[in-house]
Amino acid sequence: MAGKIIIISAPSGCGKSTIINEIFKQGGVDMQFSVSATNRQPRVGEEHGVSYFFLTDEEFRQKIAEDAFVEFEEVYPGRFYGTLKSEVERICQSGHNVILDIDVKGGVNVKRMYGERAISIFVMPPSVEELRRRLEGRATDAPEVIDQRVGKAEFEIGFAPQYDCCVVNDDLQKAVAETRAAILKHIN
Ligand code: 5GP
Repeated sequence: MAGKIIIISAPSGCGKSTIINEIFKQGGVDMQFSVSATNRQPRVGEEHGVSYFFLTDEEFRQKIAEDAFVEFEEVYPGRFYGTLKSEVERICQSGHNVILDIDVKGGVNVKRMYGERAISIFVMPPSVEELRRRLEGRATDAPEVIDQRVGKAEFEIGFAPQYDCCVVNDDLQKAVAETRAAILKHIN
């Protein structure tokens, strides 16, 4: 039955986006990505309405006032992200399932709202040490930024028991297969 909700959350650097993209690439799973709103700046290659709806602080506040969000969170200091009711409704009303790539607090809240209609999936790093190695391997962040991310990851991992299922990403193809299977079981 269409119109189901798939929530996927993970600490940064756990390969969540890679897993989602791989499932889309393989095809055969009826789900559409809900485009969130954020007040952060677009990164190179990101398009308005595709990666996010990029809003000014004022526009974001306006959406909150209009009650336009299913949920929103200040994921990083001053940086807000929110799931738009209009996106979830548009996708569900067109007869498809919706996938939400959202942070742990948002994930727990949305699961609470939708109950059995939603599946919440948490992508875990094999270990905090391995996550640190991966973040260091990217060589894009300063050591103190990596420390912050690892600290945040430890905090986020604390939410994992509240998710319906946890997928450990120690082997990408295995993690993709497990995530795909959990989604298919939920939507079919
Ligand atoms: P990024 O800035 O790297 O694209 O995303 C940062 C974090 O914000 C990720 O953990 C992502 O899952 C989360 N996020 C993106 N959209 C939403 C949303 O609509 N709601 C919540 N709660 N988190 C979101």
